[in-house]
Amino acid sequence: MPTNTTLTILFLAAVSVALAQPSSQGVNFYSIGKEIELGKQLASETQASHQAQPDARLQTIGDRLAAKTAGAYQYQFYVYPSVSPQYEPIALPGGPVFVAQSMLPADEAGTAAILAHAMAHIALRHYTREMTRRDLREIGMKASPLAGGAADGAVQLASKNYDAQLHANFEFDADRFAVKLLIDAGYDPQALVRWLESFPVPKVNLALGDLPVPNRRVQAAQQAIDAQ
Ligand SMILES: [Zn+2]
Repeated sequence: MPTNTTLTILFLAAVSVALAQPSSQGVNFYSIGKEIELGKQLASETQASHQAQPDARLQTIGDRLAAKTAGAYQYQFYVYPSVSPQYEPIALPGGPVFVAQSMLPADEAGTAAILAHAMAHIALRHYTREMTRRDLREIGMKASPLAGGAADGAVQLASKNYDAQLHANFEFDADRFAVKLLIDAGYDPQALVRWLESFPVPKVNLALGDLPVPNRRVQAAQQAIDAQ
């Protein structure tokens, strides 16, 4: 008869394995239908809170990209006013995309690159993957006998590091997907690299010789283009 501790360890090991799957195929507790429903609700909230409006120019470009995607999603595009610089579109589950006016370039390929990246997050179901991760962690924490103290701190630190890595992986995956989508729709994929080059680069890990994530994204996107 296994003890409670053994069962908890086995459970946490199973959670770790589930979370370590590639971001496009990992475990997801949410059905496509549920995801579309959730996205609609979040979109109406985001529209109100950001004073966002549907945008015909973005919709035209987005429809050209969407024609090259498979799946049940209907992509809708909104623009919201923003005074501070923004570097990431809001990609809601099931299709809604919100882009800050300040991050939109005038040229069509540059705009398509931002939309393709947002659509990639949606197609790869990153929002509900992230929700699933939170659900699993909550279950894991509740099941864990290690309440409080150093062990709990270690679990939290490991979890935080995991989150950072997972988010970076989501960005790399979305960039790679965007490269393919741009090419398929007849846009110049270099526009994605130009967009990524505009990101601010944090001064971290330089002593270790690691490139910060924005630089690594530029490299990875260029490699994805060269491999096509
Ligand atoms: Zn992103």
